[in-house]
Amino acid sequence: MPESISAPRPSLLRRITTALTQWIDSDHCPDGAEKMRTEPDRVDLVRVMPFVVLHLACFAVIWVGWSPFAVWTAVALYFIRMFAVTGIHHRYFSHKTYSTSRAGQFFLALWAGTTVQRGSLWWAYHHRHHHQHSDDPEDAHSPHVHGFVWSHIGWITSRRNFPTDYSKIKDLAKFPELVWLNRFDLLVPILFATAILLTGIALEAYAPGLGTNGPQLLVWGFFISTTVLFHGTACINSMAHLMGKRRFKTDDDSRNSFILTLITLGEGWHNNHHRFQSCTRNGFYWWEIDPTYYGLKLMSWTGLIWGLKPVPQSILDEGAHADHHASVAAASAERAANQAGANDYSSLRRIVPVATAMAVATATASNVVVPKKAEGPAIRKDLSEEAHGLNAAQPTPPPGHQPPSA
Ligand SMILES: [Zn+2]
Ligand SMILES: [Zn+2]
Repeated sequence: MPESISAPRPSLLRRITTALTQWIDSDHCPDGAEKMRTEPDRVDLVRVMPFVVLHLACFAVIWVGWSPFAVWTAVALYFIRMFAVTGIHHRYFSHKTYSTSRAGQFFLALWAGTTVQRGSLWWAYHHRHHHQHSDDPEDAHSPHVHGFVWSHIGWITSRRNFPTDYSKIKDLAKFPELVWLNRFDLLVPILFATAILLTGIALEAYAPGLGTNGPQLLVWGFFISTTVLFHGTACINSMAHLMGKRRFKTDDDSRNSFILTLITLGEGWHNNHHRFQSCTRNGFYWWEIDPTYYGLKLMSWTGLIWGLKPVPQSILDEGAHADHHASVAAASAERAANQAGANDYSSLRRIVPVATAMAVATATASNVVVPKKAEGPAIRKDLSEEAHGLNAAQPTPPPGHQPPSA
């Protein structure tokens, strides 16, 4: 790949041909990925066309209609692939919270490729960057810095956010098969969409009672399911730092939300996760449901993965103390309110602050002042936790590995 060229600014034609080439080869960066990363945020309209087509194709439902089988296929593929987003892109490639073999790792990358959220290495690089710069101006998708809309969907269309900086994910970049999948990240989605189309054609011929066909299954099973999957995932970027409660006083504004947990199979416990990133579960306590963790636990019993990392007792104790203090503070506040005659509890009081937070985040998008919690000293992110994760790659399974007791 050519080294950085000191040309002042690429011509429009060059930018377009570069973007078109990047549809096929994501690593095509004539001026170097590092230079591209330093550019100001700017939507790359040509590069982003496949993403636009993904959304527009959903309207084809007007022509292909629907059937119960097609709709249920879309629902099933949403959850199967949301599991891949959280259990593979996030909890394996980004944080290495469990281990697998090299072949198992490749299988996981293929599975995660069907989510159409670019390659696992691109995903992991940007996510680790988020943890290092959470709610700082460098954070690519902080709603406090960039506003709600940009943190939800805008940042993924920005030219500077397309390259993968392999120098920051050396633990993953040492596997050429993963780099290859990451480079040609449209290959798995195209094969996946083709398989759905062919399945629909076969069902029309051999199971006409289902009332589906190739185009209909393609629109529901691929385009609609994938578009909803993207927005479900993006809710974590745009809303998990706005909506919910803060158990841990992390130095960002991450929050725990049960609603986001339902949408994302467990990723809603985002404040927990920002406090301690190296454990397999995001729901730290038994009452914090975490379907992704349950799925990974099941997979560990098959031998495909192992070494699920538990939540340290010190973190559990810290959370229990925080919950205790929060409930005492809430009880005394309620008592004070009752004594003042302000007993006007309404569920709206829970909803309105979230709407307000989203509106404020959008209106103050250019304000890079990051809100810091005033309730006590912030807990700095322990970078050794991330480093610990980076060294956890296991190209081959350890002899006699056994199901973990995470
Ligand atoms: Zn976050
Ligand atoms: Zn994370």
